[in-house]
Amino acid sequence: MKHASFADLGVSEAVVTELASMGIEKPFAVQSMVIPDILDGHDVLAQSPTGSGKTLAFGVPLVSRMRDSDPRPSALILAPTRELALQIVEELRPIAHARALSIAAVYGGAGIVKQARLAGRAHILVATPGRLLDLIDRGDVSLRRVRILVLDEADRMLDMGFKPVVDRIVKMTDENRQTLLFSATLEGEVGRIAKAYTTSPRRHEHAHPAERKGDVEHRFVSVSHDGKVDHLVTELTKAERGLTLVFVRTKRGADRLVKRLANSSVKAVAMHGDKSQGQRERALANFEAGVVDTLVATDVAARGIDVAGITHVINYDIPATRDDYVHRIGRTARAGASGVGVTLVARDQSAELAGMIRGLGLDRELELAGMSSKTGGSGRNGGSRPRPSNESRPRQGARPAGRSGAPRSERGGQGQGKRSRSSSRSR
Ligand code: AMP
Repeated sequence: MKHASFADLGVSEAVVTELASMGIEKPFAVQSMVIPDILDGHDVLAQSPTGSGKTLAFGVPLVSRMRDSDPRPSALILAPTRELALQIVEELRPIAHARALSIAAVYGGAGIVKQARLAGRAHILVATPGRLLDLIDRGDVSLRRVRILVLDEADRMLDMGFKPVVDRIVKMTDENRQTLLFSATLEGEVGRIAKAYTTSPRRHEHAHPAERKGDVEHRFVSVSHDGKVDHLVTELTKAERGLTLVFVRTKRGADRLVKRLANSSVKAVAMHGDKSQGQRERALANFEAGVVDTLVATDVAARGIDVAGITHVINYDIPATRDDYVHRIGRTARAGASGVGVTLVARDQSAELAGMIRGLGLDRELELAGMSSKTGGSGRNGGSRPRPSNESRPRQGARPAGRSGAPRSERGGQGQGKRSRSSSRSR
């Protein structure tokens, strides 16, 4: 590691002290790479997956570059979902306060009047694009004096169809602004918007090979439709598991499965788009704290959940596309920890599954389960969006071990290492 401490990177003393009190002493790789450039005022493009420490990578220098006499807002952080917006605020609030800066989140699905009031007072505004535009249209917020703009998870914002809204928002900010774009990929459409929004950016690719090869064990289990619940119960009652995320296709399926697990004395909680925001937040908080160690979720509701201590991801229903497979299994093995991805496959689905995940390098695992990777092909992967090549493999242990890379025995109760993100679309 080039830099041993945040102070070495040029971060102000107040922020360094606050970080230390949060137990954050050594910069992660992405932080070492981008913080000096951001402090120097450069535009930055950073390829940085969730869990890499990207929030502090932009948050620390952003806070360091602001003063309490700055206009409100003078920094804008755009995020694709309310969950991500809330978590960014939660993570940055202590260091913002250390510099007497206020920070607030605005997002859809909650009362706009209160948000309008908070937004008007915030030096740093964290927003989902749609709600921000509403507030601007109502005359509650002006972006004229925004001189630092962050686009967090830019790839997701594009995936979710926010490009036209983001274009409009970016145009309203100061044209001499500093722009920071963080994204799991910098290719394709993200690359094009990056070019349009930034000036002579410094580009940083974070996922270097040594960090990428984490250890996710992929397992496929051939089951009969009738035997699925029993198999799941067997997996869930194994002693060596930590927090477990179980994926199902439908909202109703999630509720039904939670009930069936309860009948087998396994306590689980469901998370999907029909739950209220409060219910979703509570479910996630209980899960993170280990109060309930099994979360049953749909793809959309679970998108981006990054909870430290998820040791197992179980596909109770097979995913619909290869992307979904990659995203689902990517919820485990965060922070350099190891993880297990188990997929229950009914016999009549094995060809579909094998075809779908072809190209992910899991041929051996399929064969071990008696599912030849050669048999598939007609699966539903045809419906998958084309992905850039660096996303077409499961991401495995994409960051160095850190605070949230706690061993399984430490999970629960700390509230650390959390990150969640879910789209408001429902399935
Ligand atoms: P992020 O990629 O921003 O979602 O960060 C993932 C988690 O890593 C968060 O819980 C952070 O608090 C934690 N984290 C970020 N940077 C560091 C660091 N330098 N040392 C320890 N933990 C960190």
